Amino acid sequence: MSEKVLDKESIRKYIKKNFPNFYDDNLKVQEIGDGNINYVFIVHNNKGESLVLKQADELLRSSGRPLDTHRIEIEKEYLLRSGKLSPKYVPEIYKFDLENSIIAMEDISEFKNLRKELERGFIPKDFYKWLIDFLVPILGDTSSIIENRHEKKENIKFFTNPEMCDISEDLVLTEPYEDYKNRNIIYPGEETFIKENIYEDEEFRLAVDILKEKFMNYNQCLIHGDLHSGSIFVNENGLKVIDSEFAFYGPGGYDIGNVLAHFIIAFITGLYDSNKLEFLDELENQVEKIFDEIFKELYRYLLPKLDINHYSKKFLEEFIKGIKSDTLGYTGTEIIRRVVGDTKTSEIESLEGEDRIHRDKRLLCIGKKLILERKSILKGYEIIDLMEENLELE
Ligand code: ADP
Ligand code: MG
Repeated sequence: MSEKVLDKESIRKYIKKNFPNFYDDNLKVQEIGDGNINYVFIVHNNKGESLVLKQADELLRSSGRPLDTHRIEIEKEYLLRSGKLSPKYVPEIYKFDLENSIIAMEDISEFKNLRKELERGFIPKDFYKWLIDFLVPILGDTSSIIENRHEKKENIKFFTNPEMCDISEDLVLTEPYEDYKNRNIIYPGEETFIKENIYEDEEFRLAVDILKEKFMNYNQCLIHGDLHSGSIFVNENGLKVIDSEFAFYGPGGYDIGNVLAHFIIAFITGLYDSNKLEFLDELENQVEKIFDEIFKELYRYLLPKLDINHYSKKFLEEFIKGIKSDTLGYTGTEIIRRVVGDTKTSEIESLEGEDRIHRDKRLLCIGKKLILERKSILKGYEIIDLMEENLELE
């Protein structure tokens, strides 16, 4: 790590200098970062107030390899921009310190990591509404239907995020299909299935390449870029999104697909736990609602803002249709990369033995179908049918 990285002692000095009204002599500082990229601290004072400091180092926390700190500026700008459009759904930013690559922000500890909530079998009933409320304005306003042509080019420049995109292009969209860095982690017993169904299925590989090329080159709108269930926090009353350092102008369906993928993973994994029946029904309900509502909402949001001198309603319909099929495609790639690639989640690793193999094959089949049938699946119940299908897995 480089010298500028904060520790508990230097944080006290930092707070004294930058937040004199917050400071007192008994500050409690705790490191809470659980990722492998950055440093995250939570600070409490004796008035019962708290704030969070997130610092990006030029050296990656886990491996020490260099990583451009422009990512923290991108993270901050995404939070500001989405915060303006949907203030309820992101932490407030108190201060941004470019020199030290630090964001000081609101402590959202009263919300819980969605991944852990899914694992314990909890999903708030209104989740789909909040997600739609959060995503529609940011995807809509940064699309070319609304954003000024000139400003959009400037924004694309600012949000050009080569190092973080490179991580996704490799880990999500390349390595799971060809293992050229020998990093895939394949559960013993799944080797032949993955070889035949993932590595060697040419028609399928072509579809993935099309999705990859689109991810790399289609500046459709500003996306979070890493909206898996570990970047979303929830409680009974709402939702917060954090960790937007992967943001860039890319295909809108990537964000929606990421959320759906983790719901499908939670559902299929939950089938192996007899205590989760009610929760599984609710998960299906959420998947169906998200898919059936979000595109309608996006259409309703964009229609009154459509410049009819330049775009027709028919165009808007096509535009939404494109996001819909991308959503299904990237739902598939996210599911597959978690099963085959080297960044597993705790949920993926929660099963062992025959159950694990059976569950993984099932996820791979669903992921593949979503990718191959991304243009023909139109309704949420079709995804539910796929989730419930009793697959021949041999
Ligand atoms: P990284 O980019 O290193 O993955 P994250 O932004 O995901 O870091 O933060 C790591 C962890 O720190 C989160 O999972 C969460 O538990 C905690 N955290 C981050 N931001 C906040 C915040 N504003 N309030 C409370 N906890 C936070
Ligand atoms: Mg991160």
